[in-house]
Parts: sequence; C-alpha cells; structure tokens
Amino acid sequence: MTGRLVTIGSKGGPALRKGGALPTSSLLQLGSALAVIDCGLGVTRGLVEAGVDLRHLPQVFITHLHSDHVLELGALLHTAWTTGLRRPVTVFGPPGLAEYWAGFMASMAFDTALRVADEGRAPLEDLVTLQVIEPGTVLNDGNLCVSALRVDHPPVTDCFALRFEGAGRRVTFSADTAPFEPLAGFARGSDVLVHEAMLPDAVERIVAATGMGDALRAHLHASHTPAAEAARLAGRAAVRRLVLHHLIPADDPDVTEEDWRAAVAGIWDGDITIARDGLQLIF
Ligand SMILES: [Zn+2]
Ligand SMILES: [Zn+2]
Repeated sequence: MTGRLVTIGSKGGPALRKGGALPTSSLLQLGSALAVIDCGLGVTRGLVEAGVDLRHLPQVFITHLHSDHVLELGALLHTAWTTGLRRPVTVFGPPGLAEYWAGFMASMAFDTALRVADEGRAPLEDLVTLQVIEPGTVLNDGNLCVSALRVDHPPVTDCFALRFEGAGRRVTFSADTAPFEPLAGFARGSDVLVHEAMLPDAVERIVAATGMGDALRAHLHASHTPAAEAARLAGRAAVRRLVLHHLIPADDPDVTEEDWRAAVAGIWDGDITIARDGLQLIF
C-alpha cells in the first residue's frame, strides 16, 4: 500500500443530528508516514476503527480553529495518553493553538495531576509538542514533506490548505475556503485533492433547520465552496482524483451521493469520491 486516506468525519459544521455524519477529521498514510488532519468530534473513535494504535498516535495537523476541526483535539491527546502513549506527538496548527491546549489542560488539571500521582504516568504536557503553521514548508523530515497555503475563509484569517508529499504521492487538503484560485497551483498534479464542498440548493434548508437566518446564509456563501467550483478547481489543478469532503449538508436525508455527482457533472469527469464517515481510499 502506498497511499491511504480515511475520511473519518465528513460533514462541515459542528452540529450533530440523528443518522448524520460526524464533523471533519481524516487519516492520511503515505508509505510509512501517518498524519491526522483535523480533529472534529469523533476523531478518536474513528482513528481506532481505522486501525490506529493510540499508543503510537501519529502527528496531527489542524487547518484552523473552528470547532468542527479542533473540538476533539484535547480529548484525542488525553485518550492516547491514558491508552499508553509514550512517544511525543507533534501537533501542527494555526496561531492560537497554544491557547486552546493550555485551556484544555487547565480544564483537566484535576484528572491529569491525579493520574501522574496515582498511576505513575509521565505528565501529558511532556508528550505534546506544538508547532505553529505558517505559509510555506511546515515539515520536511525525509519521509514526509508538508506545505501550507493560507486560504480564503473569512472571518478566520489563519486557515491553511495543506499539501502532503511522500512515498511518491501528493495529496492536498483545501481546508475550509471560499473558491480560491491559488489553490489550483498549490494542488497541481496531486494524486488526490480533498476539497470542501457545499450544495447551494440545500443551503436554504440548512438555514431553515438551524433558525440562524441571514448570518448563517452569508457565512456559508462567503466562506465555503460550491461543489461545482471545487470541480472546476480540480480540473485546473490537473489532479488525478477529487474527494469532496466537509460536506454541507451531510445530514439532509433529501441529499444523496447522486446529488453531489450531479452537481459536478459536465465540469469534472475524472475520478471522484464523495466522502462519508469511515470511507477508505487506497491510491
Ligand atoms: Zn469547517
Ligand atoms: Zn471553518
């Protein structure tokens, strides 16, 4: 196996509904290199189901600090620790990551102090290294090269598309973004482009279901990408496969995989995968 992608949680947005998908997280394997991308609710369980031994939790990348991408980061690290993590884990993320982590550790101070004293564990903070993502090269350890591109996700300014290269494969994650032309150059020649996607026709039903009205409608249109635009960008980037991920909506019973395929028909005729929770792609 050279490349493996598991879309652990496939929905955009933090809300959870009966029968619906989980917020965003993914596992990527390129040769022997593993990476977790985003930590929405459900990531810990999803990684275990994907075969990850939490005692050997791989490096983690957080594209931005919206809760559907970061809510379970602390719980993932803590659960890995109580499962027997001994090797330090690096978490790459935007500015503000240190404040998130400090806040999580403060909230769990009773438990973590108790486990160090009572169970003889090494302090959790000694096992976690934080590294702030800036545009350009994020990591190059010989096994894996990771690069970041700031994308267009107002009002969030620190939101980064990530490109992973290793074992002769290239995979690009759009992160959350409005249609953003520089992403085409950044993703050029990728084996897989994992792009967020929205079905504009279904947005009105989301607005009605949440009761959040104009503010939510305006955010969705200003900060996210219609599936058709993701397809156009995939064509300009000449990628081998397009994966539609971070689906908006992902829990509308009236929206099926066929609706997503119909949204890109005539624009993208290459290989395509519509993400769902736990879906595994080998490439
Ligand atoms: Zn999101
Ligand atoms: Zn976001």
